[in-house]
Amino acid sequence: MKYCRYNDNRIGVVRDDKVHDVTSVVDALPAHRYPFPIGDALVANLDSLRGEMERLADAADGVPVSSVAFLSPVANPTKVIGVPVNYQAHADEAKADAEVSVAARRGGIEEQGLFLKANSALVGPSEGVAVRFPDRRTDHEAELGIVIGKTACDVTYDDALDYVAGYAIALDMVVRGTEDRSMRKSVDTYAVLGPWLTTADEIPNPDSMAFELTVNGETRQKSNTELMIMDCRRQIEWASSFYTLHPGDIIMSGTCEGVSRVLPGDTMHLEFAGLGEMDVPIRAHG
Ligand code: MN
Repeated sequence: MKYCRYNDNRIGVVRDDKVHDVTSVVDALPAHRYPFPIGDALVANLDSLRGEMERLADAADGVPVSSVAFLSPVANPTKVIGVPVNYQAHADEAKADAEVSVAARRGGIEEQGLFLKANSALVGPSEGVAVRFPDRRTDHEAELGIVIGKTACDVTYDDALDYVAGYAIALDMVVRGTEDRSMRKSVDTYAVLGPWLTTADEIPNPDSMAFELTVNGETRQKSNTELMIMDCRRQIEWASSFYTLHPGDIIMSGTCEGVSRVLPGDTMHLEFAGLGEMDVPIRAHG
């Protein structure tokens, strides 16, 4: 199944090129009083609600995918986790570019460790990216987004994919500079997820997915997740050995070579085999 959040917080099931409104499914979510449980309630309850979502989709007339504004399919992650230098060709280009690789942070993926992006940076493609500091370089990083489906702590490599709800296209946007990475990658709108969540059963091998990012129609990044240095299972195993992963948590699994600057007025287009495609407009902040 593919499901999305769109327009004014509608929930939809995506079939072919149509979005079928299944928003009433949220009425089945457990009611809570403060303090609310952390994590994304829809992702957490996806297994039990999925049948009802399919039934509601059967009964709803679809509208064209092109006619809706996609929000992040995950509304409430507890964290957005980033994997650094996970493609050798990107590691090589970063080493050669002082603006991309801060000297103190050089080293392999295990030495650098995972990083976190603020949840408040998360948007969907329709919201676009707002360049915050026009005099500095804001780069795109196209990545596979892994969405955790159930509480995961100290999971084993072999079991890791059992904890995945699904996958989506991710953009790990960044302001280049010397500040801590968590600050430069947490600017509002600098984490994009979309256009919808494709459930894990539809992706037999997340470690073999072709993807491409163009800016204004020109190819900038083109690769395949089979070239990741650290595969999806190990990312989940490693992350969950440091902190508990909760439903809706997002792992942005690293970018390939071809990162480059974007400017207000540009439009990024991303395609991921099995996950769809999306346009992400760039504007100035303010
Ligand atoms: Mn990245």
